[in-house]
Amino acid sequence: MLQQFDAIPDGFLNARAQDLHEILERPTLIHLRGKNDQPLFISTLLHGNEITGLYAIQKLLKQYQQSELPRSISIFVGNIKAAQAGVRRLEQQVDYNRIWPGTHQSYLAEAHLMQQVTDIMHQKKVWASIDIHNNTGKNPHYACFNKLQTEFISLAGLFSETLVYFTTPKGVQSSAFAELCPSVTLECGLSGEKSGVDHAMQYLQKVLTMDDLNKPLHKNLKLFHTVARVKIPEGYSFGFEDDATINLLPEIEAYNFCELKTGTELAWVEPDSSAYLQAFDDDEREVGRDFFEYTSDKIILKKSVMPAMLTMNTQVIRQDCLCYLMERLSLPQGG
Ligand SMILES: [Zn+2]
Repeated sequence: MLQQFDAIPDGFLNARAQDLHEILERPTLIHLRGKNDQPLFISTLLHGNEITGLYAIQKLLKQYQQSELPRSISIFVGNIKAAQAGVRRLEQQVDYNRIWPGTHQSYLAEAHLMQQVTDIMHQKKVWASIDIHNNTGKNPHYACFNKLQTEFISLAGLFSETLVYFTTPKGVQSSAFAELCPSVTLECGLSGEKSGVDHAMQYLQKVLTMDDLNKPLHKNLKLFHTVARVKIPEGYSFGFEDDATINLLPEIEAYNFCELKTGTELAWVEPDSSAYLQAFDDDEREVGRDFFEYTSDKIILKKSVMPAMLTMNTQVIRQDCLCYLMERLSLPQGG
């Protein structure tokens, strides 16, 4: 069940992510009034161990303790139980960033909650939406968006020159809110790093003082779009040493946002195990054969692509994916 507040709850501004449960027992929506009453929506902790958003919001709000906010803000704090445990999600939970309107699992209780948040923000005529995340590999800070429209690219481009357009997975917060207003997902590097907190905070502050997102786009923006999501099939063991069936090369973590050549080696595999990688396109079709080639003991790239979110965190690889594969996209002309 959702809980809502019309003021900053006591203790919120200084709480650590793992202690939030002492103040907020469940997913919480906090509405704060500002000069312009069309609210900016900010969501954080959809993944419990991605804490940068919370700390950026706390820093932002502390700056306005003695003065009026330029614009109303609605803050959604998502998976507080997972934050307590310091994990992306608890084993028995669903991923809080796959159950927003548009999800394939709209029957779930958690999906009803996200629908409720979306409906409330629709009623409030939400102005823009920012969902703040972290990732585990070596990635630049970048922003993701779900509609190829100027306001979306402009909102994303205020955070980073590196932008990723995607339409799957379904049920993510930014794609649900894309139906209501310009929306963006921020990827702020490693969780809790000061540089990421400061960057996110400065970004929030900038957006908060803007009236119009319909600005001409910077020419130096680098746009990519995801073409596939790579998974390791459930039935195979994997790791980064040489004792599993699929042994990923440790250097792959340095491959994020690098254009990789055909033939790049990704993993050593147990000979004759017929181990493989799965790749799912936007329609959830398995298209691994388009991207990977197999020799008796290696997995190599069949075509040139650019990966994102490659990580050595095996739990993330199992619970989410190994990486996304991307291709370059040119900027839309005009409007
Ligand atoms: Zn996340």
